[in-house]
Amino acid sequence: WLYLDHNATTQPCAEAVEEMLDGLQRLWANPSSTHASGQAARRALADARARTASLIGCQGAELVYTSGATEANHMAVVGGLELGRAQGRQRLVLSAVEHPGLLALAERLRGQGHAVDLIPVDHQGRLDLDAAKALIGPDVALVSVMGANNETGVLMPTEALAELAHAAGALLHVDATQLLGKSLQRFDRSGADLWSVSAHKLHGPKGIGALVVRKGLSWPALISGRQERQRRGGTENLPAALGFAAAAQRCLRTLAEDLAQLRALQLQLEAGLRAALPGLHLYGEQAERLPNTSCLRFGQLDAEQVLGKLERAGVLASSGAACSAGGTQPSHVLLAMGEPALLARAGIRLSLGRETREADVARAIAAVVQAIGPLLPEASPALA
Ligand code: PLP
Repeated sequence: WLYLDHNATTQPCAEAVEEMLDGLQRLWANPSSTHASGQAARRALADARARTASLIGCQGAELVYTSGATEANHMAVVGGLELGRAQGRQRLVLSAVEHPGLLALAERLRGQGHAVDLIPVDHQGRLDLDAAKALIGPDVALVSVMGANNETGVLMPTEALAELAHAAGALLHVDATQLLGKSLQRFDRSGADLWSVSAHKLHGPKGIGALVVRKGLSWPALISGRQERQRRGGTENLPAALGFAAAAQRCLRTLAEDLAQLRALQLQLEAGLRAALPGLHLYGEQAERLPNTSCLRFGQLDAEQVLGKLERAGVLASSGAACSAGGTQPSHVLLAMGEPALLARAGIRLSLGRETREADVARAIAAVVQAIGPLLPEASPALA
């Protein structure tokens, strides 16, 4: 298989697997135990925290381990509203293209009487900063936006949002799940108060992530207990934390070179496809994007059909459109970008990874052209 679905998840790297095994086999004591084994686990956890923090650009004490970014997002939003309540702030402002888990939470909160506003994006997927300005008033507790969109890779103007949020006395939470490992942005230079991250997007294990909480903010727990400085209860998952740390260290070691390589491969992919398939549409083409993500539409071909053909040609990719018994549901991201429902079902995402090479991209181009070309009347068979 040629795996081009790195925004969904990544293969754990050898370093992460090795440290996780060590965590399971040797460091299995409870870090809260006061005996020698517990204390060894406790030291390993502190070390893992510091190593992970160095990729994020935060202090170890600012990092609260969670089960992943979904939980971190919940902790940010629920906590932000809880803190805001004390100041008479009840409003939540999100972008319209947030991760489905966060939008579902916002819908639940709306049902419980909270005011929730969505900041629109333009047809390139760029956040509408004027609309954001109008929405972020003195009753806003928290502004929450993703650093980069998982479907299109379009980057969000988080620094400008931090200014807007802080000017109104609100907090800014950034869902940095797709940023970490795919960008040089760091928490400490972002202006944000809270960052969500997830290990499995950067060759670490699934089931562990973190909410980074800016020093000085005391954050209410979603899960009560004494671990994580009373911010997230439950015996710490040390093997996963070790895997996260190893993956973060590995990522940091070659990050700048990896990003340059990804950008070159992205250009190769997009130029190659465009040359062969004139009917190709590239979402967010004029926006600043992650260097690994290409969200494409081939005429009006349904994503499910395209993905099935690609899979038969050995290429694994995905789409923001969800398949269900009732048919393909349009992507909420593409709908927010102004696409009609028919076309919002047609976008597919090719997301490259650290181990993707030029030959893989050439193979992907050939596979796409062979699989899709005959279905598009305007395609050029010469390059198939
Ligand atoms: N936020 C974004 C932007 C994502 O891309 C994802 C991954 O699917 C998540 C949140 C959820 O992350 P996790 O799988 O760690 O809960």
